[in-house]
Amino acid sequence: MTRALRTVISPGRYVQGRGAIHQLGDYLKPLGASPLIIADDLVWGLVGRDVEASLKAAGLPVARERSRGIPSAGEVDRLVAAIEAAGADVAVAVGGGSTIDAVKAAGHLAGIRWANCPTVASTDAPCSALSVIYTESGEFEEYRFFPRNPDLVLVDSQVVADAPVATLVAGVGDALATWLEARATAQSNSPTMAGGLPTLTGTALAQLSWDVLWENALPAIDAVKDHTVTPAVEKVIEANTLLSGLGFESGGLAAAHAIHNGLTAVPHTHGVAHGQKVNIGSLTQLVLEGAPSGDIRDFITFTTRVGLPTTLTEVGLSADDEAALKKVADAATAEGETIHSMPFDVRSEDVVSALKSIERLAVRIRSEASLPTPVPHRAH
Ligand SMILES: [Zn+2]
Repeated sequence: MTRALRTVISPGRYVQGRGAIHQLGDYLKPLGASPLIIADDLVWGLVGRDVEASLKAAGLPVARERSRGIPSAGEVDRLVAAIEAAGADVAVAVGGGSTIDAVKAAGHLAGIRWANCPTVASTDAPCSALSVIYTESGEFEEYRFFPRNPDLVLVDSQVVADAPVATLVAGVGDALATWLEARATAQSNSPTMAGGLPTLTGTALAQLSWDVLWENALPAIDAVKDHTVTPAVEKVIEANTLLSGLGFESGGLAAAHAIHNGLTAVPHTHGVAHGQKVNIGSLTQLVLEGAPSGDIRDFITFTTRVGLPTTLTEVGLSADDEAALKKVADAATAEGETIHSMPFDVRSEDVVSALKSIERLAVRIRSEASLPTPVPHRAH
């Protein structure tokens, strides 16, 4: 693949709306005759009956394999064996980002098609042609890239609204980063996760995701607290899942996700959701950029209102944790990390300083805006 070419990639079809899950079978039928559904017990308890009914109505057999959480290399290999044992021709992830990442990687290795039915809008994993693989203990291990995106991404908005509101909040954190990172990637004209230079399309979708969230995230979160689907909820689900998915993949990742990956390298942050850690990455990226203080203030106040962390304290760290912060920063600036897509050089010590600085900065801005003081996260 030449680095001089621009490219944009996307799933074969994206479907979203209330009750969409009842049509899962109809949309799967053109993809294969023997689907294997992969879902954990919790998700299966919530939507298993609807998935089963929809497959049966489409004349498809129902087979299910349990998902076991963290998308590790071992979990992927276990799912490949399950796909082969079932003789499946399409793997269908039903659940959150962990199940989806494991199924994409397993579907690719097994040489069959794959589809995603996210039951939460907590990450932008569903649409992309890559998986993030973690160690069994949850540390970032590698990105795996595939030659194609999922054939289908189907999201039932009511199912997403029925999930805990914290999942939608985390998804907003993941999706806000998309524009900050795509903007940096466009400035430096660096390669994106799609294997080429950014297109106007990828960059514009990232920006649209940001605009939609600033307008709709707070009312959508209010609605989801009551498990209600409103137009704002539909817009936020689309921003978190499709716009951010296309935007990060074809617009490019930069410092925010590299810092997220760095944060997974220390046990302090375990139990903090992907989108929450990404929000710390976004704020740290703004500091590294020397962004206008008004922009930084707006980002801190808005994301605090959304319910995202803006301090080290809230992700289990403190400005005094020298060794841990160095470990985070070393991992974030490792060779091949997307932080090197920033329009300037970023060294480990720059990241340590920026991370340390956000503590006092966010505490001051939150206090000036009469927003809650940080509650410490305890790793579990
Ligand atoms: Zn992400």
